Order: sequence, then structure tokens, then C-alpha cells
Amino acid sequence: MQRQSVMTEKPIIESIDDILPIFCLSNGELKPENKVKNFSDPTINQTYAEGGIREITVELHQRNASLRNKALEHYGYICYVCGEKFEETYGPDSEECFEVHHLTPLSTQEKVCENTLNDVRVVCANCHRILHKNGALGINIDQLREFVHTTKTNSK
Ligand SMILES: [Zn+2]
Ligand SMILES: [Zn+2]
Repeated sequence: MQRQSVMTEKPIIESIDDILPIFCLSNGELKPENKVKNFSDPTINQTYAEGGIREITVELHQRNASLRNKALEHYGYICYVCGEKFEETYGPDSEECFEVHHLTPLSTQEKVCENTLNDVRVVCANCHRILHKNGALGINIDQLREFVHTTKTNSK
């Protein structure tokens, strides 16, 4: 574990607001179909202060980029949990949808440990968020896989 001051170089996508510009026209106007329809909401013009720069100090559990890249090469760009590839939706950018999940959370490992491909799975960002929903320990990846499979089958 390493204590360091971090200024993130790449913005992290945390919510729909981060990717909303995709729906904007080049002049910054929202496409008509994406405009908010409910103008009767009295809070529609309420302002919320955002932006600015804040320095934060975090404790990072170090990830190994080589293991990450090797996992993507070995397992491919397909979510272990939901089986989605996102190619049809996003094209070549679909590779950005995938992350590498550690079966034993790094946050529980204080010391450096040797991990192999068996210790990680490739998952999509959505499933990864759900996996970590219950905090650092997350939930069991195979239980979630089973759950998603059942949900998908029942919705057909
Ligand atoms: Zn998924
Ligand atoms: Zn994870």
C-alpha cells in the first residue's frame, strides 16, 4: 500500500452526467429528444455548485497493469458476469467498457501478493459496479453471474 497525493489525469465516469455530452449537438444544445420534458418541476432551474479543483489524499492498493492487460488478452472483451460484448452498441470503443476484477479484493490485501490470471475476471463497468456494491468485499461473482443469467432468461 502506498500513500500518495493523486490528481487524476483521466476523468472517471461516475454517472450519466459524465457521458451526457455525447447526446449534445456541436453547439452544446441538447438534441430535442434528449431535452428534459417536465418543465413543471419547480426545481428545474435550481443551481448546484460543481467543478473547481480539490486535492485529495488516498491510500492506493497497487494494481499491476501487466496483469490487467494480460487478462483482457486472455479472457477477451466479454463480460464474465453478463456475457455482453457491447461491440454492436459502441463499436471499437466498446473495449473501454471492460475492467478487470480481482476475486479477492486488493483492498483486503495489505501486503504485496502474487496474482495470476486465475485471480481475476474481465467484467463490464456495470457489473463491476454491482460487484462492489456492498463495499470493498463486494459480492460473489458467480452468484451475480447466475442471478443475471436468470434475470435475462426470465425477461425473454
Ligand atoms: Zn456485465
Ligand atoms: Zn473489482
